Amino acid sequence: MSILITTVIYNNYSISYKKISLKLHSKFKISRGSKSTVNTLLISAKKDGYKGIGECVEYKRYNENLKDITKYLNNTRKQNDILKVKSLPLQAALQNALLDIKIQRNRKNFIKFLNLKKEYKTFITIPILSINEILLKKKQIKKLNYIKIKLSKKNIFKTLDLITSFNNKAKIIIDANEGWTFSFLLKNIKKLEKYNIFFIEQPLTAGKQNKLKKIKTKISFCADEDFYLNKKINNQIYKWVNLKIDKFGNDKTIKKNIKYCKKNKIKIILGCMVSSSLSIVPALRYAKFCNALDLDGAMFLKKDYSNKVKYSNNFLKLNSNFIWGKKKARV
Ligand SMILES: [Mg+2]
Repeated sequence: MSILITTVIYNNYSISYKKISLKLHSKFKISRGSKSTVNTLLISAKKDGYKGIGECVEYKRYNENLKDITKYLNNTRKQNDILKVKSLPLQAALQNALLDIKIQRNRKNFIKFLNLKKEYKTFITIPILSINEILLKKKQIKKLNYIKIKLSKKNIFKTLDLITSFNNKAKIIIDANEGWTFSFLLKNIKKLEKYNIFFIEQPLTAGKQNKLKKIKTKISFCADEDFYLNKKINNQIYKWVNLKIDKFGNDKTIKKNIKYCKKNKIKIILGCMVSSSLSIVPALRYAKFCNALDLDGAMFLKKDYSNKVKYSNNFLKLNSNFIWGKKKARV
């Protein structure tokens, strides 16, 4: 079901939204839950015969749900300051819709306008799976050089052993999504050092980063949930951060955070939600500021927008005919 409502006026753009549910190939499970569908709002901006679009994905970890976002859109008549737009994923979507129009006005395709490459290297995620399900992925895992595995407290070493038995060259990111404990890390860090680990992402609940200081290891840690709007990162604890557009919203805040990381010598991996190509493609404009990419979110969708991003092993490939940045037929 989808509803189209014209609501807000933003800098003389008329903004409307449409609810879109995107089905996944299979269940995507991480330590705090799982999903088979991703709920989004397709945000449209219209002005002077142009139409631009952006995708707003709900981000429940930070209390960003579509119910509140649509309520905000329905109750707002005018807002000209992006920083005052309630909801960070909505700020991001709105900005992407306006950028879409800017590209159209310049009559260049988005690859040229944003000075993007045609393909990018990205980590590929393996969500939490049973041992049997991982066995079925042997062929795929063998071909990867960069793997991100989601792990809860269960089957950690069984999973690592199995993946390493298929492929002992691949660099592995472990993403615990806040699901581990300090005592587990302390006890097992030496064992974890035996694997080819790129970094461990957000092992402990956000806010407990000081505890990581007590872990003596050559493995780096990466802040994801700890790296959120206005949260300062300690570079003695975290060598990496996961930058997701939906966690910061607007360009000004994103650039400010990138600057902070550069100044403090913190490396950046550009990440994403499970989302369509309409989220992945605009995010690539920040790739040049980042040290690695984790932009495989659209790979899990059953159906994506036409001329979508294509994934092949560790590469994401852009199609210059993708809908974003292109003149839309109906305005
Ligand atoms: Mg993460």
